[in-house]
Amino acid sequence: MYKWGCDGSQQTRFKQEFESNSDSDANIFQSSFVPLQLSCNQENKVIWQNPLPSSTRFCKPIGIRFVKEIADITNEEISYVQNKINLLKATQVTQTNKTFLVKHVKMLAMVDAKDCNAATDTKSTMRCYICGATSKEFNDLSKRKDINEDSLQFGLSALHARIRLLEGLLHVPYKLPVKKWQLRNKKTKKIGDTRRIQKLVESDSRRS
Ligand SMILES: [Zn+2]
Repeated sequence: MYKWGCDGSQQTRFKQEFESNSDSDANIFQSSFVPLQLSCNQENKVIWQNPLPSSTRFCKPIGIRFVKEIADITNEEISYVQNKINLLKATQVTQTNKTFLVKHVKMLAMVDAKDCNAATDTKSTMRCYICGATSKEFNDLSKRKDINEDSLQFGLSALHARIRLLEGLLHVPYKLPVKKWQLRNKKTKKIGDTRRIQKLVESDSRRS
């Protein structure tokens, strides 16, 4: 059993240039996989278990591309690798006159929110990719929504977990002058420049 996934990274290009001007390594998109477990189906026995599944130690790259990570690229990569996985044949291993067939099971489990959104065709990062709830609906716990069962393979959406609760609380006083949580038009943006207020508050607290 393996897990696989893909992610992009960006870097600022400095002095090193390529021979051809059209080449660039400013954006890198890589897919990789990690072997997790080798088990025997007949006896239900675990033969090998990755001792460090979250470490890069056993992580192998599938491919590296010099492209920017956008939804289309992620989708393209997922379907490309998924197709290749479907074509995988069991590996034959012969040892002490016995032949073993090793089947490869690969799961798309190394994903970030960007991958989940791309794979489930969710356009907004503020929308849950499982139930489609948006910021307006998160506080209404009585509301039950139909879920997209295919998306459950990616696990729970972090949007429901309230992991940034305290940050949210901090932003309440910052945004008191505008009384809006998202600053859309120019006027409110000017008054509620949260970063500016944040800096003022921080420098004030440092002084006292
Ligand atoms: Zn949801």
